[in-house]
Amino acid sequence: ATPTALLAGTGRGAQLGVVIRGPEALEQARTIDTVVMDKTGTLTRGEMSVQRVVPADGEDDATVLANAAALEAGSEHPIAEAIVARAAEQGAVPPADGFRIIPGRGVQADLEGRTAFAGNTALMEEQALPIPGPLTEAADTASAQGATVVFVAWSGAVRGVIAVSDEVADNSARAVERLHALGLRTVMLTGDNERAAGHVASQVGIDEVHAQVLPEQKLSVITDLREKGHRVAMIGDGVNDAAALAAAELGIAMGTGTDAAIAASDLTLMRHDLMLAVDAIDLSRATLRTIH
Ligand code: ADP
Ligand code: MG
Repeated sequence: ATPTALLAGTGRGAQLGVVIRGPEALEQARTIDTVVMDKTGTLTRGEMSVQRVVPADGEDDATVLANAAALEAGSEHPIAEAIVARAAEQGAVPPADGFRIIPGRGVQADLEGRTAFAGNTALMEEQALPIPGPLTEAADTASAQGATVVFVAWSGAVRGVIAVSDEVADNSARAVERLHALGLRTVMLTGDNERAAGHVASQVGIDEVHAQVLPEQKLSVITDLREKGHRVAMIGDGVNDAAALAAAELGIAMGTGTDAAIAASDLTLMRHDLMLAVDAIDLSRATLRTIH
């Protein structure tokens, strides 16, 4: 039979703002030693905005932004939302068809018959599209400041770069500090580039960073840690976090996240506040102490 204390614990969790799927989730929470966290939408607020548009030689920023918005119109990524919102302030966006998402890299579409792409360095490399020197410089500067950079290409050339950025969520640094005080190791997992990842990691004080992780690789980071004998909690919000959330001993979803992430998790945080995850771990330790 389920101990009364565990049931009381799940009720206490709900009061704190954490939905606990079942009493077993609290037992899992008690024994973890590593907490893996997604960056965008978990450690950061997940509300991106366009910081800068840099056109290549011979292009103008309005055209780069409008074409990027046409490409991104079919995507629900926070990057896409930021670009579409900024372009809407400026005017018309050209029609696009043949839209395709390239997971972990970006998007592709046809703009009035011209093949076009918006995405990261890996995507440009895959498409054999060389990035002009000044755009690489602009991108490096922006990512050193924590921005995510999106290259925009059409008709066989990279035509510009757009820097979008997000803010670290209010309690992320304090939550990481408390996880460390509880003796837990912290790991960040992100599809974003090394520099942007490093910038956020140093702001929140995270122990270990895995950047440029493709969606299917997020899962293997979790299984590798488990094979090494670690007991892993994963905190995430995205569709691309769902497999990793399900594979962790303890999956924790941001309530602001996608349905896929919530369905794959044992705990859901009702506010965008990582301190709630720490509270849940504290609660599991306290609850289990009353039982034994
Ligand atoms: P994360 O949730 O950590 O950002 P994703 O797998 O969603 O991970 O994305 C990884 C990277 O792929 C992003 O940082 C970005 O460089 C690129 N990317 C993904 N989707 C898009 C998009 N719609 N437009 C441009 N770039 C994208
Ligand atoms: Mg995310």
